[in-house]
Amino acid sequence: MDAKTEKSNLIEGATGAWEIVIGLEVHAQVSSEAKLFSGASTVFGGDPNSHVSLVDAAMPGMLPVINEGCIAQAIRTGLGLKAQINLRSVFDRKNYFYPDLPQGYQISQFKDPIVGEGEVIVDLLGGERVIVGIERLHLEQDAGKSLHDQHPKYSFVDLNRSGVALMEIVSRPDMRSSEQARAYVSKLRTILRYLGTCDGNMEEGSLRADVNVSVRRPGEELGTRCEIKNVNSIRFIGQSIEYEARRQIEILEDGGKIDQQTRLFDAKTGETRAMRSKEEAHDYRYFPDPDLLPLELSQEFVDEIAEDLPELPDEKRARFIADYGLTPYDADVLVAERESVDYFEAVAKGRDAKQAANWVINELFGRLNKEGVNVVDSPVRADQLGSIVDLIKANTISGKIAKDVFDIVWTEGGDPAEIVEARGLKQVTDTGAIENAVDEVIAANPEKVEQAKEKPAMIGWFVGQVMKATQGKASPQAVNELLKAKLGV
Ligand code: ADP
Ligand code: MG
Repeated sequence: MDAKTEKSNLIEGATGAWEIVIGLEVHAQVSSEAKLFSGASTVFGGDPNSHVSLVDAAMPGMLPVINEGCIAQAIRTGLGLKAQINLRSVFDRKNYFYPDLPQGYQISQFKDPIVGEGEVIVDLLGGERVIVGIERLHLEQDAGKSLHDQHPKYSFVDLNRSGVALMEIVSRPDMRSSEQARAYVSKLRTILRYLGTCDGNMEEGSLRADVNVSVRRPGEELGTRCEIKNVNSIRFIGQSIEYEARRQIEILEDGGKIDQQTRLFDAKTGETRAMRSKEEAHDYRYFPDPDLLPLELSQEFVDEIAEDLPELPDEKRARFIADYGLTPYDADVLVAERESVDYFEAVAKGRDAKQAANWVINELFGRLNKEGVNVVDSPVRADQLGSIVDLIKANTISGKIAKDVFDIVWTEGGDPAEIVEARGLKQVTDTGAIENAVDEVIAANPEKVEQAKEKPAMIGWFVGQVMKATQGKASPQAVNELLKAKLGV
């Protein structure tokens, strides 16, 4: 980060500048059919308590059995975060009473997590790049859900989520603005989706973050932090940081001290409020779960997963810039979502990638955004957009007609080549026909011809007239050449 961007991240208080420091603990639900220690389904939205095994309900005598698929997913994620994979890790019991956690403890990893240090490269709009350190990734069980709104006197519990595998991904306190934190979570989500290890669906709670915020004078030691629990949208993460930083600055500027607290974000007011302070913090009495042996992995198991890793967004971005000559901005737009990049690569395959990128970004994404449609539901499929690009390349249609064809495919569907044929949209490259149109326009506008001789830029007006006369089907290049010759400009 250069001095200039560093400076722009400071907040000006009444008594001088402050720097925000942010570290995130992201909980990502592992994409897996079964739970971490039982065979019960993880499908979202089932009837309450329809996906609960005896293990998840913590019936006496039940024993957890580790799900190898979840282990592989955690390793895959670790590799995607360029992190250290620990061949030996340990599952611990984290003891606390929670009404929707029937075991009375959560099985988690404490001292020996499955994944150690890694990093995430975050590129912001405007070219700023931040490298956020990953401290660790560990596996743990999710809890169930208490329902307090079903009955006037009783609370109910839904244990469908109980025992679902979560990856807790802990960042270093490397972020300095709410924008950086939002971009980090987006990037992390993109990586997880490319890897297929978490669907990243924040509305369904598959990805949520504990947001740690502190403030300090630039260059000073880290300040006391507050942790905002369970923030479940990227926008809320940004809002909670903005609010929390200002709250802390106000206290410090008034001569007060920050009390290390756990806080909650209220989406309705955009404020955070205290939940518990450090003095009331739990003592979890972690100890190794006696029901589970330490997890010992072979290097071959890890290597096999590494070989199977897909190309990740950073590598794709670099390749698009180096091999396709795309701008960093265009490359960022394309790699941001796995579905977008899959679509683009299907269009670009065997074609001019730069032209494909232009069509995908400007026409397709433009239209999808405008109409609020997701790329996977695009009415224009990649093969159809590919044929449109082919038709332009072959000079069968002009870029302008191509937009009309795109519009027809969007609303009516169909094969672009057939549409062009059936509706007579083919570009006229026959110079005889174009020449007739050019001659007619010249003959009808003698005074403009005189003006054009003085002002060669007038040729644009003539091109427009000829295109109009040919219903846009004349090859603009041919029209230009003929006009130049005939007008002598
Ligand atoms: P704990 O285990 O008590 O939650 P950690 O030291 O593991 O505490 O830190 C948890 C998270 O808080 C990490 O993401 C870390 O980057 C972040 N963090 C630690 N210190 C600070 C600080 N002073 N300001 C902001 N974030 C911090
Ligand atoms: Mg914590």
